Amino acid sequence: MKIARKPEWLQKQVRLGAHADMERLLGELRLNTVCQEARCPNVTECFRQKQATFLILGTACTRLCTFCSVEKGAPLPADPGEPARVAAAVAHLELAHVVITSPTRDDLPDGGAALYAATVTAIRRHSPATRIELLLPDFQGSRSSIARIAAAGPDVIGHNLETVPRLYAIRPGARYRRSLEVLTTAKEMAPATPTKSGLMLGLGEGLDEVRAVLADLKEAGCSYISLGQYLAPSLRHQPVVDFIPPEIFDRLRREALQLGFAHVESGPYVRSSYHASDYAIGKN
Ligand code: SF4
Repeated sequence: MKIARKPEWLQKQVRLGAHADMERLLGELRLNTVCQEARCPNVTECFRQKQATFLILGTACTRLCTFCSVEKGAPLPADPGEPARVAAAVAHLELAHVVITSPTRDDLPDGGAALYAATVTAIRRHSPATRIELLLPDFQGSRSSIARIAAAGPDVIGHNLETVPRLYAIRPGARYRRSLEVLTTAKEMAPATPTKSGLMLGLGEGLDEVRAVLADLKEAGCSYISLGQYLAPSLRHQPVVDFIPPEIFDRLRREALQLGFAHVESGPYVRSSYHASDYAIGKN
């Protein structure tokens, strides 16, 4: 089976080596980014702007999502020194906005919530002006884990629904309703903190299915949404069904704004953390 040829609007080149400084810093601090692990097409642009999404809690995930290139397998124990190293990188890079995410750690009793909270606290101590956005796993719906996160006081709490309910077989171990509950619970426990979610398009979903998910997210109190084109990381991953043209992304963006989302990023190359700092300033 061949990977489908990308249309003209999806020809961005990743310039390897164009961000050696950033990679050196990450290496020195023994830090991982989802930018590198998920082979994000925006890495050159973001790293050049000193933007990165830090991946804490290791690089191995306990889930088997068929669209994701994050390594699967038995994770290493959580590293208590990681929060301080992330905080050091944030201070060194003088980041105005930082995104922190992780693989899903179903092997940990709290799913890693304590390390997330410690990372927020460490960044606050060294860079009090930095906005902190967390892109969370579902913690298997654990209210105590979400409460721990809310109590740490991040500026944005994110959890991606990734796709429409009919296609949830590509996310074994995840549940559509439970993922929505992660967002409603976060809103209940931190009412003033905006929540955010993201969808990949091009996996075979219909426009009305996407609209139904946007309505569910709005009802869940979600403020921010990202919509981007799914690109298969390799032949072993979930194949792309459709390449969604830019005009469809534009139409969905307008519809989402009409639904009342405070900020929407929608486009072929949009990823959860792409232009993350624009959400807070509502640069629609
Ligand atoms: S849970 Fe997240 S990191 Fe793990 S396989 Fe799924 S998408 Fe990838």
